[in-house]
Amino acid sequence: MELELADKVAVITGGSIGIGLAVARGLAREGVHVAVCARNGERAVAEAERIAADFGVQAYGIAADVSRPQDVECLVSEVKKRCGGVDILINNAGTGSKETIMDAPDEKWQYYWDLHLMAAVRLSRGLVPLMKARGGGVILNNASICAKQPLGYEPIYNVSKAALMMFSKCLADELISDNIRVNCINPGLVLTPDWGNTARKLTAGKEIGWEQYLEQIAKDNAPIGRFASPEEMADFFVFLCSPRASYCVGATYYVDGGWLKVVA
Ligand code: NDP
Repeated sequence: MELELADKVAVITGGSIGIGLAVARGLAREGVHVAVCARNGERAVAEAERIAADFGVQAYGIAADVSRPQDVECLVSEVKKRCGGVDILINNAGTGSKETIMDAPDEKWQYYWDLHLMAAVRLSRGLVPLMKARGGGVILNNASICAKQPLGYEPIYNVSKAALMMFSKCLADELISDNIRVNCINPGLVLTPDWGNTARKLTAGKEIGWEQYLEQIAKDNAPIGRFASPEEMADFFVFLCSPRASYCVGATYYVDGGWLKVVA
Protein backbone atom coordinates (compact mmCIF):
# COMPACT_ATOMS: atom_id res chain seq x y z
CA MET A 1 0.00 0.00 0.00
CA GLU A 2 1.39 3.42 -0.92
CA LEU A 3 0.95 5.55 2.20
CA GLU A 4 1.26 8.91 0.43
CA LEU A 5 3.31 10.43 3.23
CA ALA A 6 6.43 11.57 1.36
CA ASP A 7 7.59 15.10 2.24
CA LYS A 8 5.11 15.56 5.07
CA VAL A 9 6.46 17.01 8.32
CA ALA A 10 5.87 15.34 11.70
CA VAL A 11 6.54 16.40 15.29
CA ILE A 12 6.95 13.51 17.72
CA THR A 13 7.18 14.19 21.45
CA GLY A 14 9.28 11.68 23.34
CA GLY A 15 10.76 10.68 20.00
CA SER A 16 14.25 9.81 21.24
CA ILE A 17 13.65 6.21 22.40
CA GLY A 18 10.95 3.57 22.71
CA ILE A 19 7.64 3.88 20.88
CA GLY A 20 8.21 7.53 19.90
CA LEU A 21 11.54 6.76 18.25
CA ALA A 22 10.03 3.78 16.41
CA VAL A 23 7.21 6.04 15.15
CA ALA A 24 9.71 8.70 14.05
CA ARG A 25 11.75 6.08 12.17
CA GLY A 26 8.62 4.49 10.71
CA LEU A 27 7.45 7.84 9.38
CA ALA A 28 10.92 8.72 8.08
CA ARG A 29 11.00 5.40 6.20
CA GLU A 30 7.95 6.71 4.33
CA GLY A 31 9.76 9.95 3.46
CA VAL A 32 8.40 12.11 6.29
CA HIS A 33 10.66 14.85 7.70
CA VAL A 34 10.63 14.64 11.48
CA ALA A 35 11.24 16.78 14.55
CA VAL A 36 11.73 14.68 17.68
CA CYS A 37 11.70 16.24 21.11
CA ALA A 38 12.72 14.99 24.54
CA ARG A 39 14.15 16.48 27.73
CA ASN A 40 17.56 15.00 26.93
CA GLY A 41 18.36 17.09 23.87
CA GLU A 42 21.64 15.30 23.15
CA ARG A 43 19.91 11.96 22.73
CA ALA A 44 17.17 13.57 20.62
CA VAL A 45 19.78 15.17 18.34
CA ALA A 46 21.78 11.94 18.05
CA GLU A 47 18.67 9.96 17.06
CA ALA A 48 17.61 12.67 14.61
CA GLU A 49 21.02 12.50 12.96
CA ARG A 50 20.70 8.73 12.67
CA ILE A 51 17.23 9.09 11.13
CA ALA A 52 18.51 11.62 8.59
CA ALA A 53 21.41 9.35 7.66
CA ASP A 54 19.29 6.19 7.45
CA PHE A 55 16.33 7.56 5.50
CA GLY A 56 17.56 10.70 3.69
CA VAL A 57 14.93 12.97 5.25
CA GLN A 58 15.36 16.16 7.27
CA ALA A 59 15.36 15.30 10.96
CA TYR A 60 15.71 17.61 13.94
CA GLY A 61 16.29 16.83 17.61
CA ILE A 62 14.89 19.47 19.95
CA ALA A 63 15.29 19.64 23.74
CA ALA A 64 11.97 20.29 25.46
CA ASP A 65 10.19 19.21 28.61
CA VAL A 66 6.64 19.15 27.29
CA SER A 67 5.18 19.26 30.80
CA ARG A 68 6.34 22.92 30.92
CA PRO A 69 4.31 25.53 29.03
CA GLN A 70 7.39 27.64 28.25
CA ASP A 71 9.18 24.64 26.70
CA VAL A 72 6.12 23.87 24.58
CA GLU A 73 6.14 27.47 23.31
CA CYS A 74 9.84 27.17 22.41
CA LEU A 75 9.19 23.82 20.70
CA VAL A 76 6.42 25.35 18.58
CA SER A 77 8.62 28.26 17.50
CA GLU A 78 11.57 25.93 16.76
CA VAL A 79 9.28 23.79 14.57
CA LYS A 80 8.07 26.91 12.74
CA LYS A 81 11.64 28.10 12.24
CA ARG A 82 13.22 24.81 11.20
CA CYS A 83 10.39 22.99 9.40
CA GLY A 84 8.31 25.89 8.08
CA GLY A 85 5.08 24.03 8.82
CA VAL A 86 3.72 20.77 10.12
CA ASP A 87 1.32 18.05 8.97
CA ILE A 88 1.47 15.48 11.78
CA LEU A 89 1.66 15.77 15.56
CA ILE A 90 2.30 12.68 17.70
CA ASN A 91 1.70 13.37 21.40
CA ASN A 92 3.67 10.46 22.78
CA ALA A 93 5.84 11.65 25.69
CA GLY A 94 4.75 10.02 28.91
CA THR A 95 5.68 7.68 31.69
CA GLY A 96 4.21 5.38 34.30
CA SER A 97 3.63 6.33 37.93
CA LYS A 98 3.43 4.52 41.26
CA GLU A 99 1.43 5.79 44.21
CA THR A 100 -1.75 5.53 46.20
CA ILE A 101 -4.37 8.24 45.90
CA MET A 102 -4.30 8.71 49.66
CA ASP A 103 -0.57 9.42 49.72
CA ALA A 104 0.23 11.21 46.45
CA PRO A 105 0.74 14.99 46.79
CA ASP A 106 -0.92 17.57 44.52
CA GLU A 107 2.41 18.26 42.82
CA LYS A 108 2.56 14.71 41.49
CA TRP A 109 -0.96 14.92 40.08
CA GLN A 110 -0.09 18.26 38.51
CA TYR A 111 3.07 16.93 36.84
CA TYR A 112 1.28 14.01 35.18
CA TRP A 113 -1.65 16.23 34.21
CA ASP A 114 0.79 18.60 32.51
CA LEU A 115 2.78 15.78 30.88
CA HIS A 116 -0.04 13.58 29.62
CA LEU A 117 -2.85 16.05 28.99
CA MET A 118 -1.75 19.69 28.91
CA ALA A 119 1.24 18.97 26.67
CA ALA A 120 -1.22 17.65 24.06
CA VAL A 121 -3.58 20.60 24.61
CA ARG A 122 -0.81 23.20 24.35
CA LEU A 123 0.94 21.58 21.39
CA SER A 124 -2.33 21.23 19.52
CA ARG A 125 -3.09 24.91 20.15
CA GLY A 126 0.39 25.85 18.92
CA LEU A 127 0.62 23.59 15.86
CA VAL A 128 -2.95 23.34 14.54
CA PRO A 129 -2.76 26.80 12.92
CA LEU A 130 0.24 25.52 10.92
CA MET A 131 -1.74 22.45 9.87
CA LYS A 132 -4.70 24.61 8.85
CA ALA A 133 -2.37 26.72 6.72
CA ARG A 134 -1.44 23.52 4.83
CA GLY A 135 -5.04 22.44 4.36
CA GLY A 136 -5.18 19.70 6.99
CA GLY A 137 -3.26 17.35 9.21
CA VAL A 138 -3.21 14.47 11.65
CA ILE A 139 -2.90 14.37 15.44
CA LEU A 140 -2.31 11.08 17.27
CA ASN A 141 -2.38 10.86 21.03
CA ASN A 142 -0.60 7.92 22.61
CA ALA A 143 -2.55 7.07 25.76
CA SER A 144 -2.57 3.50 27.12
CA ILE A 145 -4.82 0.54 27.75
CA CYS A 146 -4.70 1.89 31.34
CA ALA A 147 -6.92 4.77 30.20
CA LYS A 148 -9.74 2.23 30.16
CA GLN A 149 -8.48 -0.74 32.18
CA PRO A 150 -6.58 0.65 35.18
CA LEU A 151 -3.51 -0.90 36.76
CA GLY A 152 -3.84 -0.71 40.55
CA TYR A 153 -0.39 0.68 41.32
CA GLU A 154 -0.62 3.76 39.09
CA PRO A 155 -3.87 5.67 39.58
CA ILE A 156 -2.38 8.98 38.45
CA TYR A 157 -1.21 7.41 35.20
CA ASN A 158 -4.63 5.79 34.65
CA VAL A 159 -6.55 9.02 35.30
CA SER A 160 -4.32 11.31 33.25
CA LYS A 161 -4.31 8.90 30.28
CA ALA A 162 -8.11 8.60 30.48
CA ALA A 163 -8.26 12.39 30.20
CA LEU A 164 -6.03 12.27 27.11
CA MET A 165 -8.40 9.76 25.52
CA MET A 166 -11.43 12.00 26.06
CA PHE A 167 -9.46 15.04 24.91
CA SER A 168 -8.76 13.22 21.63
CA LYS A 169 -12.46 12.69 21.00
CA CYS A 170 -13.32 16.33 21.76
CA LEU A 171 -10.47 17.68 19.64
CA ALA A 172 -11.45 15.37 16.77
CA ASP A 173 -14.96 16.83 16.75
CA GLU A 174 -13.58 20.36 16.80
CA LEU A 175 -11.03 19.93 14.01
CA ILE A 176 -12.48 17.55 11.44
CA SER A 177 -14.07 20.42 9.52
CA ASP A 178 -10.51 21.75 9.04
CA ASN A 179 -9.50 18.40 7.54
CA ILE A 180 -7.48 17.54 10.64
CA ARG A 181 -8.00 13.96 11.84
CA VAL A 182 -7.44 13.28 15.53
CA ASN A 183 -7.24 9.77 16.98
CA CYS A 184 -5.99 8.07 20.11
CA ILE A 185 -4.03 4.83 20.41
CA ASN A 186 -4.08 2.70 23.55
CA PRO A 187 -1.11 0.32 23.49
CA GLY A 188 -0.83 -2.72 25.73
CA LEU A 189 2.62 -4.13 26.55
CA VAL A 190 5.38 -2.71 24.34
CA LEU A 191 8.93 -3.92 24.87
CA THR A 192 10.85 -0.65 25.13
CA PRO A 193 14.35 -0.41 26.64
CA ASP A 194 12.76 0.96 29.81
CA TRP A 195 10.86 -2.31 30.41
CA GLY A 196 14.19 -4.14 30.06
CA ASN A 197 15.88 -1.80 32.58
CA THR A 198 13.06 -2.20 35.11
CA ALA A 199 13.02 -5.98 34.72
CA ARG A 200 16.81 -6.17 35.18
CA LYS A 201 16.53 -4.16 38.42
CA LEU A 202 13.64 -6.21 39.78
CA THR A 203 15.30 -9.55 39.05
CA ALA A 204 18.85 -8.64 40.15
CA GLY A 205 20.11 -11.42 42.43
CA LYS A 206 16.97 -13.50 41.89
CA GLU A 207 16.68 -16.90 40.31
CA ILE A 208 14.40 -15.71 37.55
CA GLY A 209 16.12 -13.91 34.63
CA TRP A 210 14.82 -10.54 33.40
CA GLU A 211 13.67 -11.94 30.08
CA GLN A 212 11.77 -14.73 31.80
CA TYR A 213 10.22 -12.17 34.15
CA LEU A 214 8.92 -10.15 31.18
CA GLU A 215 7.68 -13.29 29.44
CA GLN A 216 5.67 -14.09 32.55
CA ILE A 217 4.13 -10.59 32.64
CA ALA A 218 3.07 -10.98 29.02
CA LYS A 219 1.66 -14.46 29.58
CA ASP A 220 -0.25 -13.33 32.70
CA ASN A 221 -1.85 -10.37 30.94
CA ALA A 222 -2.02 -10.36 27.16
CA PRO A 223 -3.85 -13.26 25.48
CA ILE A 224 -1.28 -13.09 22.68
CA GLY A 225 1.30 -14.10 25.32
CA ARG A 226 4.05 -11.66 24.39
CA PHE A 227 5.02 -7.99 24.26
CA ALA A 228 4.69 -5.97 21.08
CA SER A 229 7.88 -4.58 19.61
CA PRO A 230 8.01 -0.76 19.33
CA GLU A 231 8.21 -1.23 15.55
CA GLU A 232 5.02 -3.23 15.32
CA MET A 233 3.25 -0.57 17.40
CA ALA A 234 4.75 2.15 15.18
CA ASP A 235 3.37 0.54 12.02
CA PHE A 236 -0.13 1.22 13.27
CA PHE A 237 0.70 4.87 14.06
CA VAL A 238 2.17 5.32 10.59
CA PHE A 239 -0.93 3.91 8.94
CA LEU A 240 -3.18 6.27 10.93
CA CYS A 241 -1.03 9.20 9.79
CA SER A 242 -1.58 8.27 6.17
CA PRO A 243 -4.35 9.66 3.95
CA ARG A 244 -5.14 5.96 3.39
CA ALA A 245 -6.68 6.10 6.89
CA SER A 246 -8.89 8.99 5.79
CA TYR A 247 -12.09 7.72 7.45
CA CYS A 248 -10.44 7.13 10.85
CA VAL A 249 -11.59 10.05 12.99
CA GLY A 250 -12.14 10.54 16.72
CA ALA A 251 -11.53 6.91 17.61
CA THR A 252 -9.46 5.17 20.25
CA TYR A 253 -7.71 2.08 18.93
CA TYR A 254 -6.51 -0.64 21.27
CA VAL A 255 -3.30 -2.28 20.10
CA ASP A 256 -2.88 -4.62 23.01
CA GLY A 257 -2.62 -8.27 21.94
CA GLY A 258 -6.13 -8.83 23.28
CA TRP A 259 -5.46 -7.54 26.82
CA LEU A 260 -8.55 -5.31 27.10
CA LYS A 261 -11.12 -7.39 28.93
CA VAL A 262 -14.22 -5.53 27.74
CA VAL A 263 -15.70 -4.70 24.35
CA ALA A 264 -14.78 -1.07 23.63
P1 NDP B 1 10.06 5.50 27.03
O1 NDP B 1 10.28 5.71 28.49
O2 NDP B 1 10.76 4.42 26.32
O3 NDP B 1 10.34 6.88 26.27
C1 NDP B 1 9.73 8.05 26.70
C2 NDP B 1 10.11 9.16 25.79
O4 NDP B 1 9.48 10.36 26.25
C3 NDP B 1 11.61 9.46 25.79
O5 NDP B 1 11.97 9.98 24.54
C4 NDP B 1 11.74 10.52 26.89
O6 NDP B 1 12.94 11.25 26.70
C5 NDP B 1 10.47 11.34 26.58
N1 NDP B 1 9.94 12.10 27.70
C6 NDP B 1 9.61 11.69 28.94
N2 NDP B 1 9.18 12.72 29.70
C7 NDP B 1 9.22 13.82 28.90
C8 NDP B 1 8.91 15.19 29.08
N3 NDP B 1 8.48 15.66 30.27
N4 NDP B 1 9.06 16.03 28.04
C9 NDP B 1 9.52 15.57 26.84
N5 NDP B 1 9.84 14.30 26.61
C10 NDP B 1 9.69 13.43 27.63
O7 NDP B 1 8.47 5.37 26.86
P2 NDP B 1 7.61 4.38 25.97
O8 NDP B 1 8.09 4.37 24.58
O9 NDP B 1 7.44 3.12 26.74
O10 NDP B 1 6.20 5.11 26.06
C11 NDP B 1 5.83 6.13 25.15
C12 NDP B 1 4.37 6.45 25.42
O11 NDP B 1 3.60 5.26 25.28
C13 NDP B 1 4.11 6.95 26.84
O12 NDP B 1 3.19 7.99 26.82
C14 NDP B 1 3.55 5.73 27.55
O13 NDP B 1 2.67 6.08 28.60
C15 NDP B 1 2.81 5.04 26.42
N6 NDP B 1 2.64 3.60 26.62
C16 NDP B 1 3.72 2.75 26.71
C17 NDP B 1 3.54 1.41 26.90
C18 NDP B 1 4.67 0.43 26.99
O14 NDP B 1 4.43 -0.76 27.31
N7 NDP B 1 5.89 0.81 26.72
C19 NDP B 1 2.18 0.84 27.03
C20 NDP B 1 1.12 1.83 26.92
C21 NDP B 1 1.36 3.14 26.72
P3 NDP B 1 13.62 12.09 27.92
O15 NDP B 1 13.68 11.17 29.09
O16 NDP B 1 14.93 12.51 27.38
O17 NDP B 1 12.70 13.24 28.14
